[in-house]
Amino acid sequence: MTLSLAWIGLGSNIDGPHEHIERAFRALDQLPLTRCQQQSSRYRSRPVGPADQPDFVNAVAQLETRLSPLALLDQLQALEQQHGRVRQRHWGPRTLDLDLLLFDDRQLSTPRLTVPHAHMHQRGFVLIPLAELVPDLRLPNGKRIDELLATLDTSDLQRVLPKNTLTPQ
Ligand code: ATP
Ligand code: CA
Ligand code: CA
Repeated sequence: MTLSLAWIGLGSNIDGPHEHIERAFRALDQLPLTRCQQQSSRYRSRPVGPADQPDFVNAVAQLETRLSPLALLDQLQALEQQHGRVRQRHWGPRTLDLDLLLFDDRQLSTPRLTVPHAHMHQRGFVLIPLAELVPDLRLPNGKRIDELLATLDTSDLQRVLPKNTLTPQ
């Protein structure tokens, strides 16, 4: 199994969002065949979709993994379940959302998994923390992350905790 880099978008907006995000970073580092190499800062963002719900805490993790993309998605969904995620309305409140943003420079389109994540190009709460980790990132479609960010209004995004880069083990 080859070693890949994967970037995960973390989000939470109920039942103590900061604690869910901190626990999720620790859990990502403990997934099989996987290590969390970098954590972005934490950000506060306004919800996508229904506005009658609390603000989100968002962050991005950079993983080094020998899992396949689908095996990684299985692990992410299991973690969401362990955090008591209940799927109610679309884009509604959640204890933990883990989106697989990028997997190396691969493009995948299957019923369960689209990579790069379909909406990441329009989301400041994804691109700003991702750009912290990989400032010169180019997406598989050739677009540079700073070019994408220049098209977005990110004024409602607030950085709430400092970046924490993990030391190699
Ligand atoms: P959005 O995808 O707009 O951020 P969401 O995170 O609220 O919305 P979910 O309900 O968490 O959406 O996920 C719906 C489905 O999306 C999942 O069951 C999963 O199979 C699928 N999916 C497709 N591509 C991805 C991806 N890159 N990362 C995570 N889930 C994905
Ligand atoms: Ca999401
Ligand atoms: Ca999701």
